[in-house]
Formats: sequence, structure tokens, C-alpha cells
Amino acid sequence: MDAAALLWLAPGLALGSFLNVVAARIPLRRSIVSPASACMSCGERIAWYDNVPVVSWLLLRGRCRSCGTAIPPVYPAVELATAALVAGCVLAFGVTLDALVAAFFCAVLVVVSATDLAHRIIPNRVVVPATVVVLVAQTALHPSPEWAIAALGASAFLFAAAVAYPAGMGMGDVKLALLMGAMLGRTVPVAMMIGMVVALVPSVVLLARHGGAARKMGIPFGPFLALGSVLALFWGDELLDGYLALL
Ligand SMILES: [Zn+2]
Repeated sequence: MDAAALLWLAPGLALGSFLNVVAARIPLRRSIVSPASACMSCGERIAWYDNVPVVSWLLLRGRCRSCGTAIPPVYPAVELATAALVAGCVLAFGVTLDALVAAFFCAVLVVVSATDLAHRIIPNRVVVPATVVVLVAQTALHPSPEWAIAALGASAFLFAAAVAYPAGMGMGDVKLALLMGAMLGRTVPVAMMIGMVVALVPSVVLLARHGGAARKMGIPFGPFLALGSVLALFWGDELLDGYLALL
């Protein structure tokens, strides 16, 4: 079983390659299916042999073959992260519908992390339909009000935080919390706690460097919520039980 999960790395890389297209085009409101992959800088169409996940980026030394513009390392990073997450879902949940829903959730987290880092956008056109899909799937697979309650509770919590501290969080984060709750249920507080604690690190660095001006700079919060979500997805029950045991 463990070794078989590694077979899912290959489709995971291919999915990651597609997620790069989604993350690059959705904020520009362009179609994610056509035209074929092209350089974002010179528009030259990318040949299949220059579009092999990770490998092509390494062979091209991170530059477009036709114009030489740097291809940011976030592209192979998205592919590697997606592959690891897809294999991780199979490892954790087997070849099941639960693994499929979890992999879908991870794919959405990868896309919103990439768009939040690049554009400070968590696109509604990704998060809202994904939340509906996940909420319906979780409620069908594990009938319980848990998923809807956790979704509303998590987004209400971040909404209050966004009102209290507008520089730190936006409505995109509030909608992302809705998705997180729908997927994670009772372990969503673990994801939010980890996300907020880890986000403190760059916040403190900014504050040390820029003093009071750092208050207005803020940081993209989505990737931190995504990190917390992944940890809660795979180890949420253990983390929650461990935390409750401390009280
Ligand atoms: Zn180019």
C-alpha cells in the first residue's frame, strides 16, 4: 500500500502542472482550457517537451526557451507540492472517495496559495464552487451537520478577525475558512490555530524591520491557512486530542 501510493506521484505532477495554468490564468480572467500553455512573457506556445513537470524547468534552468524570461521556482514547487499531497491523500485514506475529496481540497489550497502569493487574491471563482462540492461530498460520505457547522463557525471566526484587524485578513480568507470547515469539520480550529501561529513569524519580522509601518503592509494569509489545513487534514485528530490533553 505504501509503495503503491508513490504511483500517484506521476498523476499528481500532471495535476500540479494544470494547477499552475489555473493559478496563472484565473486572476487574469482567462480560460483555463484554451489556448494551450504559452509563455506568460513572450506568448510563445510551449512545446510538450518543455512542459514536462519539474524536469523541463530543471533542463531549461528556469528560463523560457524562446525569450529567456525567468520562470519563477513557484512553478515546479506547485507541481512537487501537488504530487506530494495527492500521494499523501492516497497514503492516508487509501484509494477511496475520501481520498478523492481530500485531493480535490488540497488542489484548491495549492491554487489559492499561489494566487494569494502572486496577486493577493483568493479567487471567488475557485473557492465558492469548491466549497459547495466539498460540503456536498462530505455530507454525503459522512452524514452529519458537522461539516456545515464547522464551515459557518470557521468563517464567522475569521470574519470577526477581519473586522477587528482589516490589514491582516480579507474577505478571501473568510471564504477560504468556509471551505476549510466544510472539509475538516471538528478539526478546523487546529488548521486555523496553526495558520495564525505560523503567520506570526513573518509578521514579527516585518514589524522588526519596518516598525509601525508594518501594520499597514500585512502578509498574504491564504498560504498559512492552507498549511494549517494540510496538517489538520492528515493529523487533525491527533493534534486536537494532544491539545485537549494539555488542558
Ligand atoms: Zn517566453
